Amino acid sequence: MIKVVKFGGSSLADAEQFQKVRSIITADESRVYVVPSAPGRRYPDDVKVTDMLIRMYETAAKGEDFSAELAQIRARFQEIIDGLELKDFSLEDEFLEIEKQLKEDPQKDYTASRGEYLNGKILAHYLGYAFIDAKEVVFFNEEGNLNTYKTEKVMSRVLQEYMPAVIPGFYGLGKDGNIRTFSRGGSDVTGSVVARGCRADVYENWTDVSGCMTADPRIIQDPEVIRFVTYRELRELSYMGATVLHEDAIFPVRSCGIPINIKNTNSPEDEGTWIVESTCQKPAHIITGIAGKKGFCSVLVTKSMMNAEVGFGRKVLQAFEDNGISFEHMPSGIDTMTIVVHEDEFLDKEQKVVSAIHRMTSPDSIEIESNLALIAVVGRGMRSASGTAARLFTALANAHINVRMIDQGSSELNIIVGVENKDFENAISAIYKTFVDSEPAK
Ligand code: ASP
Repeated sequence: MIKVVKFGGSSLADAEQFQKVRSIITADESRVYVVPSAPGRRYPDDVKVTDMLIRMYETAAKGEDFSAELAQIRARFQEIIDGLELKDFSLEDEFLEIEKQLKEDPQKDYTASRGEYLNGKILAHYLGYAFIDAKEVVFFNEEGNLNTYKTEKVMSRVLQEYMPAVIPGFYGLGKDGNIRTFSRGGSDVTGSVVARGCRADVYENWTDVSGCMTADPRIIQDPEVIRFVTYRELRELSYMGATVLHEDAIFPVRSCGIPINIKNTNSPEDEGTWIVESTCQKPAHIITGIAGKKGFCSVLVTKSMMNAEVGFGRKVLQAFEDNGISFEHMPSGIDTMTIVVHEDEFLDKEQKVVSAIHRMTSPDSIEIESNLALIAVVGRGMRSASGTAARLFTALANAHINVRMIDQGSSELNIIVGVENKDFENAISAIYKTFVDSEPAK
């Protein structure tokens, strides 16, 4: 049994958190590959080390003195080293190297990646594990995307050589020989790539919550945790704003059938959430989760007999494409077609799009509505349950919420409803009450 364990920034923010991490790792001997993030926030308005590093890079890139920033970062790591009483350990050489690089040739990705690098060094020493520099095992291609082929080949060879080991998250080697990072939160991707490289049985992703929530805890107080969620359900939920994992962290493990277990460093006995390809575990409720976002616009195009006009839909979409706008949803009727877009992408180009639609399709009318929020009600259980839509709309009607749009995905995995921005929170509460609160969990 092999487990890859990734610890997020808050799990490694200070010496006390490091101690919890070590207890977790030593409690299970299959936890042999460890992927750390950089130290995160210790308290709500603390600054993450990655942000401190990026700020230091910005100062250095302007040719200004960055010694104050460097001293603060050094102090954060020293606090961890002292707190763990690592007497014979020092990061002096590493800091000298960072300083030199910033003076000679400041690079953003290199600088940002040092949080993971230094944290990985401390953790490897603290655990007595080997340290594998991510630049030796994670590779990017010319476009700056992960080179999956080369990464997998080298990663699996190196992992076989070093076990147990710590591999810092978030970065790798670019095609040009310089350090490259993933986008923010990218240590999740490293964890996933390491899990794939050693064909792990489980990829454990340790964070500061006990799994994925059925709804946003900023709207619903203490929402239930989802026990099992499929990759497809998670994709629908993340697309609609639920933040659990970095989007790119799914693919490497999914394609070789490795489940992800989201766990809480501050409450390790909690089962957490299992993210799996497929499962016969019955969902606790008909719906698995609710997620949503504000800030959409809908463009309703009406033309009688549009259904008989070949190429009508393509021409409407062309108007959006020509203006570089991607659309999110497209519910349609016999004589109507609605295109839902992000308000901030659309506003500037609104009139250009409208005139292009007029020019290309001569519609009867075009109506634009803004301040739309979309809510996705997601669940594999909906496929086999009848009456879900009826319950959903009854819940919204009882809460006096006017539904502006409905789109049921053809996967039968989700129903998307559009409401006004101002009704967003109330709509989520009403849906949560109906499907989670008032249904005993199975
Ligand atoms: N430290 C990086 C960030 O703050 C990467 C990560 O934590 O996954 O985005």
